Amino acid sequence: MAVPFRRTSKAKKRKRRTHFKLQVPGMVECPSCGEYKLSHRICPECGQYNGKEVVESN
Ligand SMILES: [Zn+2]
Repeated sequence: MAVPFRRTSKAKKRKRRTHFKLQVPGMVECPSCGEYKLSHRICPECGQYNGKEVVESN
């Protein structure tokens, strides 16, 4: 089995991991209730989309 000639350096490893993000992308604040929701999805809190369109309500 082949052995790597050099270990991955700390800088190389850290630079690769800069692309790892803590938060899930695509989260936006709902304009009507202010809760975080996925963009281009109906808000699960108030059931609104694009301002007025009430698709489902709680
Ligand atoms: Zn909402």
